[in-house]
Amino acid sequence: MFKTDVLIIGAGAAGLFCAGIAKQKGLNVIVIDHASKLAEKVRISGGGRSNFTNIELDAHQPSKHFISENPRFCTSALSRYTPQDFVGWMHAHKIPFHEKHKGQLFCDRSSEDLILALLEECQIGASGTEVKILHSCKLESLNFHDHQSPYYEAHTSQGTIQAPAVVVATGGLSIPQIGASDLGYRLAKQFGLRVTPTRAALVPLVFEPQSWSAFSSLSGLSLPVTIQTGEGKEKTLFEEDLLFTHKGLSGPAALQISTYWQENESIQINLLPNKPMGEHLLALKQQSKKHLITELSAHLPNRLAQVWSLQNPDWLKSMPDLSNKSIQNIAQSLQNWQLRPQTTEGYKKAEVTVGGVDTKALSQQTLESQQKGLYFIGEVVDITGWLGGYNFQWAWSSAFACANGLANQFNKL
Ligand SMILES: Cc1cc2nc3c(=O)[nH]c(=O)nc-3n(C[C@H](O)[C@H](O)[C@H](O)COP(=O)(O)OP(=O)(O)OC[C@H]3O[C@@H](n4cnc5c(N)ncnc54)[C@H](O)[C@@H]3O)c2cc1C
Repeated sequence: MFKTDVLIIGAGAAGLFCAGIAKQKGLNVIVIDHASKLAEKVRISGGGRSNFTNIELDAHQPSKHFISENPRFCTSALSRYTPQDFVGWMHAHKIPFHEKHKGQLFCDRSSEDLILALLEECQIGASGTEVKILHSCKLESLNFHDHQSPYYEAHTSQGTIQAPAVVVATGGLSIPQIGASDLGYRLAKQFGLRVTPTRAALVPLVFEPQSWSAFSSLSGLSLPVTIQTGEGKEKTLFEEDLLFTHKGLSGPAALQISTYWQENESIQINLLPNKPMGEHLLALKQQSKKHLITELSAHLPNRLAQVWSLQNPDWLKSMPDLSNKSIQNIAQSLQNWQLRPQTTEGYKKAEVTVGGVDTKALSQQTLESQQKGLYFIGEVVDITGWLGGYNFQWAWSSAFACANGLANQFNKL
C-alpha cells in the first residue's frame, strides 16, 4: 500500500509537467502510466522534434487557436503560464530550439531533450518529497472515501495507492498503438462529470475511392493553398501547404481544416491563392497563342495541371480558341474547388481529439472538478489547439494551474 499527497494518472506532457511543479511545491507525488515507455506522444511529436509551443498564442483570444464548447475557459491558465514562460523553462534546461513557421518553436535536436528535462524536474526541489513514477501500471479501480479527511483509493496492477488528490492526465484517443485510451473520460463519467462528444482531429481527410481515383496519382505532391469549411460566421479558413495522398488530402492545410470539418460538410480549396486567375487568363487570351495547360503550368505544379486537364478537354485548347465562359469556369474550378470528404483517417492517424471533459465541470483557476480533489489537465479536457504547438502549450499551462491548485489544497502556497 502506498500513501501519497497526489496521484497523477498519465505520465505524458501534462502529467509529468504537473508532477515536477507539485514536488517543487513540497508535495509527494505518484505518477502511474499503463505504457512501458513514458511520454511517447512527446517523443513522436513534431516529427521527433516536438513543436513545444507557439509564440503567436493570444490567451485573450482563445477562439483564434483553440476549439471547445467554451474556448474562453482556457484564458485563465494560458495567461498565467504563457509560451514565454515555457521558453524560459527551455532556456533553463539549455535545450536548443528554433522558430520554424508562424511562431512554431521546435527542438533543434530531438524531443528526447524535452522528455529528459520533464523527468529532471521531477527530481529537483525540496528534499523529503519525491515523485515516484510507476510504468506499466494499470488502474483497476478508483474510489472516493468521503471521511473527515477524504481520500481516493486506487487499485492498480502494482498495488493500492491512497491520496487526497487525483489528477487525470490521460490525454486523448489518438494513436492507441502507443497507449492512448478512454480512461480519463470513463473516470469523469464515473464521478458524474459530462464528457462532450469526441472526434479525431488534426487528421488526414479521406475521399470516396472512386471519386478520388482521378487524383490518387498526385500522391506526394504538395503546394500552398487556402482551404476553408463552414459558411458565414462559422467559416474557417487556413493558408497552409496541402499534401495529396493515395486516399485523399493531408499536410498542414488538411490537418487544420479537419478539426473544424463536420461529417457531410464540404470543403473549398483555392489552388492558386493570391491570384485573380479569371482576370489573368482573360487578359492572356488577348496576347497568347499558347495552350491553356501551358499557361497554367506556369502557376501550378506540372503533375497537377496534367491531371486537371484530363477532367476538361478545354485545357488542351489554345488560348484564343477558349470562350470567356470556359476560362471563367476553369479559373473557378481551381480557385473554388469544392470537395466533400467521405471521412478522416481516424484516431490511428490523428494528432489530437476534439472534445473531452466538459469545462463547465472544472475550475478555470485550478482545473479541479466538481468532485472535490479530482483534477483534469491536458488533452483529456475539452480544449483542442490548432496544429503548431498550441496543444502542448495547453498541456503546460493547465498542468501549471493544477499544480498551484494542488499546493493550495495542501496549504503549500
Ligand atoms: C503524431 C503526433 C504529433 C504531435 N505533434 C505535436 C506537436 O508538435 N505540437 C503540439 O503542440 N502537439 C502535438 N501533438 C499533440 C500532443 O502530443 C498532445 O496534445 C499532448 O501530448 C497532450 O498531452 P497530455 O499529457 O494531455 O497527453 P499525453 O501526452 O498523450 O499523455 C497521456 C498519458 O496517459 C497515459 N494513459 C492513457 N491511458 C491510460 C490508462 N488507461 N492508464 C494509465 N495511463 C494511461 C498514456 O500512456 C500517456 O503517457 C501531437 C500528437 C501526435 C499523435
